[in-house]
Amino acid sequence: MTTQAALIASIKEQTLLAEITALSGWDALTGMPKDAGHFRADIDAYLAEKTFQVATGAKRQQLLADFKQDASGLDAFGQLIFAKAQKDFDVTGKLPEKDYIDFQRTLSEAQDFWAQAREANDYTIFQPYVEKIIAYLKQFIPLWQTNEATPYDVLLNQYEPGLNVAKLDAVFDELKAGIMALRTQLQTDGTTPDSHFLSRRITKDQQKAYALAASQRLGYDLNKGRLDDTIHPFMEALNRDDARITTRWDEHNFQMAVLGIFHEAGHGLFEQNVAAKYDDVRAVMPISMSIHESQSLFNEVMIGRSKAFWQAEYPKMQATFAPTFDDITFETFYRGWIKTEATLIRTEADPLTYPLHIIIRYEIEKAIFNDNVPVADLPQLWRDKYQEYLGLTVPDDLTGILQDIHWAGGSFGYFPSYALGHLYAAQFMATMKKTLDFDQIYASGDYTPIFAWRREHIWQHGGAVDPGEILVTVTGEALNPKYWLDVMQQLYATAYQLPHARG
Ligand SMILES: [Zn+2]
Repeated sequence: MTTQAALIASIKEQTLLAEITALSGWDALTGMPKDAGHFRADIDAYLAEKTFQVATGAKRQQLLADFKQDASGLDAFGQLIFAKAQKDFDVTGKLPEKDYIDFQRTLSEAQDFWAQAREANDYTIFQPYVEKIIAYLKQFIPLWQTNEATPYDVLLNQYEPGLNVAKLDAVFDELKAGIMALRTQLQTDGTTPDSHFLSRRITKDQQKAYALAASQRLGYDLNKGRLDDTIHPFMEALNRDDARITTRWDEHNFQMAVLGIFHEAGHGLFEQNVAAKYDDVRAVMPISMSIHESQSLFNEVMIGRSKAFWQAEYPKMQATFAPTFDDITFETFYRGWIKTEATLIRTEADPLTYPLHIIIRYEIEKAIFNDNVPVADLPQLWRDKYQEYLGLTVPDDLTGILQDIHWAGGSFGYFPSYALGHLYAAQFMATMKKTLDFDQIYASGDYTPIFAWRREHIWQHGGAVDPGEILVTVTGEALNPKYWLDVMQQLYATAYQLPHARG
């Protein structure tokens, strides 16, 4: 008879393979010698094949089929794991094996051509691959589709279970209108802060010393993590005792690494604090992107842009950076720290303009899958939207449609998670403020109550609960962009000294 232990043993094998794959991925982006890529590709391909076999092979299929027929041998935990494993299987297991393999090959080629197109600053080099990837996805969507209303809903659901285009349209419309109104207000009634001092030289060692100390105060455990240099920062978790973060440095822009490390440490905090009962089954219980981002952005924006936090932290940072900021008062520092400016590049955007970058991508992706807009039209669509929403003229493909790797990786439907992370973070913050006195906590220098709240209400659940469900359970309300807009209104009204600014 098939037992729960057999199911868990099979998933544990998948989890161990995922850990090795993660370790290889982390190494490739941090310390791997430049010439080792070719051999490493063989190792990664081998691991991917093994993982595919374990996750979708005959043994797994038998286990799932047995429990589908008779689930009486499963306790509550077993039922959860079974549902997650079935869902994990459906993403790849429902596709014909040959198509799946061809699709993976197309993706790896597409990434090379994306890089070539970037080098030549010419979208047309990448365009045939985008067309191919979209054609594959349009072929897969009916195989994945269950009760989703539109083709794009199917893609969205793979990253953000439970959310759909109808709900997201309403949320993003409100968000877009709110951001654009606030930006207009800042331009007409606001006093733009001076932020020149932010480019004063701070050595990498000074930046590292401050950012790591502050991240540890927020709870990131360096006995279960580490910080390395990379080009595009990320967090990679092997397991809850090994959640590694990375960053990049610019000695004339310390804000980038400080907020970047806060962000990645937020991802690391989540992974370090998932309940031990999920150790063996992590592979089929990925934490949804939006909830993960809500925790990195909680560190970066809700804490890392908060006035009360910096009131406590600025003297510590000044001491670490001494004497460079000795002549900058706290008020001057904080106003400069919050300054907002539209940028062409999404990853360089500040919190206020960031969601507009996501809304642009969301609207384009929806146009591709639900309105069948031709791929050749996308660069113009991109330029039009940047002009309309951010007031920016896109000069070329490199700073326009070629800036993100996501489409080359086939990740259509993924972008909205980033904006949702911002919204969730603010909604959690509003709930936390009902029971936690943040001003008092920051002033005390002991941030444990914030850590404890996040661990109890969010982190320990890992990927067990869908994001929409966590949000309702924790905040008592479905997704509501009002909380984020309130936070932004308050932050920027203060920094830009708007006439009716609240403190
Ligand atoms: Zn992140």
